[in-house]
Amino acid sequence: MNFYVMTLFPEMIRQGVGTSITGRAIERGLIDVQAVDIRDYSKDKYRHVDDYPYGGGAGMVMQPGPIYDCYQDIVKHMERPPRVVYMTPQGRVFSQEIAEELSREENLIFLCGHYEGVDERILEEIVTDHVSIGDYVLTGGELPAMVMIDAISRLVPGVLSNETSAQFESFQDGLLEYPQYTRPEEFHGKRVPEVLLSGHHANIERWRRQKSLERTLRRRPELLEHAALDKKDREYLDILINSSNNKE
Ligand code: SAM
Repeated sequence: MNFYVMTLFPEMIRQGVGTSITGRAIERGLIDVQAVDIRDYSKDKYRHVDDYPYGGGAGMVMQPGPIYDCYQDIVKHMERPPRVVYMTPQGRVFSQEIAEELSREENLIFLCGHYEGVDERILEEIVTDHVSIGDYVLTGGELPAMVMIDAISRLVPGVLSNETSAQFESFQDGLLEYPQYTRPEEFHGKRVPEVLLSGHHANIERWRRQKSLERTLRRRPELLEHAALDKKDREYLDILINSSNNKE
């Protein structure tokens, strides 16, 4: 899978994704991340890519011309135009579902804004998706693009060494993941739950499912509305809800 990031800070992207699991995935050729410097497409001898906003107001706005030329350079050898994601606090909020949807693309372009944002006309012309990473305002789109590249890359086959670890974790079936434990068996007087030491796979599975349900109910109850739940899950949730009502 190929990611192209249109940015004013290519080094930030290269350093951010060049380490750890994404770094290894790049080395192994499973993903490719090209950080493309929008300033290289400036027609100005000072490499300016921004100007004052028409109508007045604070800050600067990124100009459409250099972004358009940068985009054309990226897509010139592609058979069909790829999806172009503009990182913006005004977009739909990024989620595991969006990560899964985008992981099926062969090529993806990210446009990182800065200053007050980007001239609207280039957004209308090239952008297919407006995506936010949350309801807060950052200084630039590089961190959001890296968040998305990280989440999408780990869904690309072969990127995670253990394929199952992407299948059984938070959000995969609409629930939060169960608690995890490793050695030692006892830490500061707290023992690892006995069931995990039992080697009894069916009991371990049931315990994990119940902990996922408990945790989701306590921390993110709204997720339960759309989670994939069977009859047993619903019965267990009823027990949890009734026992907490009885305590009140
Ligand atoms: N004036 C813009 C607005 O009110 O929507 C915010 C501009 S922000 C200071 C600069 C850039 O950071 C944006 O163009 C966008 O690329 C990026 N950015 C900031 N917050 C973001 C968020 N929550 N999600 C995704 N991108 C964000």
